[in-house]
Amino acid sequence: MDVRCARFFISDRGKPSFWEKALQMTRRKKIYEGKAKILYEGPEPGTLIQYFKDDTTAFDATKKAVLEGKGVINNRISEYVMTRLNSIGVQNHFIKRLNLREQLIREVEIIPLEVVCRNIAAGSLSTRLGLPEGQALPRSIIEFFLKDDKLHDPMVTEEHITAFNWASTQEIDDIMALTLRVNDFLTGMFGAVGITLVDFKIEFGRIWENDFGRVILADEISPDSCRLWDSVTNEKLDKDRFRRDLGDVIESYTEVARRLGIMKEMPTVIQGGLH
Ligand code: UDP
Repeated sequence: MDVRCARFFISDRGKPSFWEKALQMTRRKKIYEGKAKILYEGPEPGTLIQYFKDDTTAFDATKKAVLEGKGVINNRISEYVMTRLNSIGVQNHFIKRLNLREQLIREVEIIPLEVVCRNIAAGSLSTRLGLPEGQALPRSIIEFFLKDDKLHDPMVTEEHITAFNWASTQEIDDIMALTLRVNDFLTGMFGAVGITLVDFKIEFGRIWENDFGRVILADEISPDSCRLWDSVTNEKLDKDRFRRDLGDVIESYTEVARRLGIMKEMPTVIQGGLH
């Protein structure tokens, strides 16, 4: 791991600057604040600004930390991934990155599901089914969880989703097809830089065009929402470093960015400040 690169992001410049904080406070209306991101009103109707915080939580927010520079890295990685997905026709909410911590996004009607796609057993699947972590799955598996912190995001089935009208049967079909496309693309993208995509979580939203609702990818794709292992050593390069107290969280996220070829652009972005 290139620690020189990692250090760049844990320098003071990775922190929200005085001006960033001032802009945050004065510029616009806060629509929603989550654990790792804030949504602000956007400059035009139908748009929002997604702000990436350094706050990190795990285990239903019982474990918390502020990891300096994490928001900057995730903003950039998510921009990169969403842009590449858009270029292969996976429509998503990303419009453009505005500055270090913010991106302009399309406002969507959020579908209250966390969609998890798994290639290798890990985390809650290993616990639930007693599978050794690292065991390859017979095929990619998609799971749905209800987005509800109070209920600890319970796992739900298609029966629940359609019965409670969280999404229609057609939307579930679309979500599953899109999730598999995202999985195929991300597996190749990370594989090419020596990273194994173990699993990931994505979210979807609905957009309306002439009374016709369509499902598009929303939220973020970053080491906060994926399990990424070094393909040779199986070293974890994702949020499990925080969940499991493995240390070097920011260094690992930075390593992912570096391998994706994003790192070389980031110093100029950081030095250039907000733009
Ligand atoms: N995940 C996420 N947000 C959540 C729960 C899970 O981004 O609220 C991601 C997690 O990082 C992993 C995948 O979804 O890449 C599967 O997580 P799992 O169900 O194994 O739960 P965990 O072990 O993270 O509790």
